[in-house]
Amino acid sequence: MNRTDQLLQIQHTPHWDIVIIGGGATGLGAALDAAARGYKTLLVERSDFGKGTSSRSTKLIHGGVRYLEQGNIKLVKGALMERWFFLRNAPGLTRAIPFILPVYKRWKLFYFWMGLKFYDLLSGRLSIGKTRRLSAEEVAQRMPSIDRRRLKGGVMYYDGQFDDSGVCMALAHTAAAQGATLLNYCEAQSFIYENEKIAGVRLRDRHSGAEYEVRAAAVVNATGVFADALLSADNNAHQPIVRPSQGIHIVADTSFFEGDHALLIPRTTDGRVLFAVPWMGKVVIGTTDVNVEDISEEPVAHEEEIDFIINNFNRYCRTGLSRADIRSVFAGLRPLVRMNGIQSTANLLRDHTIIVSASGLITITGGKWTTYRKMAKDAVNKASTLAKLPFRRCVTKDLPLHRPQPEQSEHTAVPLHPAHPYTAADVIHAVRHEMALSLEDVLARRIRLLFLDSQAAIDAAPLVVEIMRAEFGQTDAWKKQELEKFLEIAQAYRADSSQ
Ligand SMILES: Cc1cc2nc3c(=O)[nH]c(=O)nc-3n(C[C@H](O)[C@H](O)[C@H](O)COP(=O)(O)OP(=O)(O)OC[C@H]3O[C@@H](n4cnc5c(N)ncnc54)[C@H](O)[C@@H]3O)c2cc1C
Repeated sequence: MNRTDQLLQIQHTPHWDIVIIGGGATGLGAALDAAARGYKTLLVERSDFGKGTSSRSTKLIHGGVRYLEQGNIKLVKGALMERWFFLRNAPGLTRAIPFILPVYKRWKLFYFWMGLKFYDLLSGRLSIGKTRRLSAEEVAQRMPSIDRRRLKGGVMYYDGQFDDSGVCMALAHTAAAQGATLLNYCEAQSFIYENEKIAGVRLRDRHSGAEYEVRAAAVVNATGVFADALLSADNNAHQPIVRPSQGIHIVADTSFFEGDHALLIPRTTDGRVLFAVPWMGKVVIGTTDVNVEDISEEPVAHEEEIDFIINNFNRYCRTGLSRADIRSVFAGLRPLVRMNGIQSTANLLRDHTIIVSASGLITITGGKWTTYRKMAKDAVNKASTLAKLPFRRCVTKDLPLHRPQPEQSEHTAVPLHPAHPYTAADVIHAVRHEMALSLEDVLARRIRLLFLDSQAAIDAAPLVVEIMRAEFGQTDAWKKQELEKFLEIAQAYRADSSQ
């Protein structure tokens, strides 16, 4: 994938079947779906692919144990089916992982076992591992960091795990291989109308400043928490549909949480669930659910959210995690769909919604990473019907995702940081083949160093930006500016700079 080629496609294509706005899980999934059906497809992302919510998730491919307790069986069953397609179609990018729910009251052992057994049974023949009861000894053996005092046993079940921005890149590569055109740093600014119906989009390339007008039979708004801005651009009397809810995670060394199993804390002090999941050599712990008014591209963790996670984690683990032990903290915004009369975001609908405006604009929002394929399918079905495109069946159930890996050579084997496996080859690959333009694109989403260890990312930044400068043939002034921009963003990933 190369940005110059994508721009040439935009300049030389007079008419698109489908233009998709937003390059997160939903938009990239829709671009792959549409291109694989043979539709002429363009996706534009105003920042970097995955820059929004889609790089800030818990990284679980799951049916949602919590929604089962709320009685939402249909939602869970659908997501479990999608979990299976996701794991099957992206084997190198995903894995099944055992979770343990520790239990401290004997009668609860039966209760949770029944619930999690039902969770597994709901997946039917698409099960990825059997739910079973564990004794207190077995729990402690598999999860050495757990606090054994009063432990009565546990329940082990399976879900999936992935690298969210890595799968964004895989979706982009696979969509491009199917014929889609995808451009990052390209903003949809307004719509072009014919007979009061949307007939195209005005775009601005934020990299060069160039403006383009593209014509399309159908336009899909897949901008997540930002969906209302485009809906308002289309109709200034529009009522907001998204209610953003912030969730944060903290990342620590595995010495605070040893072993290969993930922990599910069934009830936090505010009645939610909390996960501690081994991921890329660290442990990711989260999440929270907090109403926010400001829909920011760079959401920042609140002090109380960090304390909440540390306190709840320490109630179950004996390793004494403190703020100073946090390697990184990241915040994301859930694009929940508004429902009249509901105050708490924890109770809002986690299913997706498709809205067709009077102008024909198709907006898809809500849902979750796990169900991106189904969301994409529904959006493209709607777009093709509305635009009267020739009928073509969705083929993504059986379409493998691929993400080419960097080629290592003696010349590019230079490590970026002594404590992490990344090398100069990763940076060169990101620039040449994955359309990374900024230092943050590389350190946050092509490799995950900023999410895993913010100080290591800050330490590696001067070397990474020098490699990028040489690749782009850029100046020292560019390098300085890029470094400053990155350091400002990276501050928000440090536990000592929360709000
Ligand atoms: C804390 C947290 C934990 C989560 N954990 C999980 C999990 O473990 N498993 C799971 O299945 N789901 C999880 N989710 C949910 C999941 O991450 C989201 O549902 C999903 O990422 C939303 O993707 P999206 O593409 O709709 O939105 P986004 O990823 O936000 O993408 C929208 C994109 O649109 C772009 N955009 C906006 N305006 C414009 C414009 N005018 N022109 C061009 N582009 C524009 C933005 O820059 C953005 O990149 C979690 C969510 C949160 C917040």
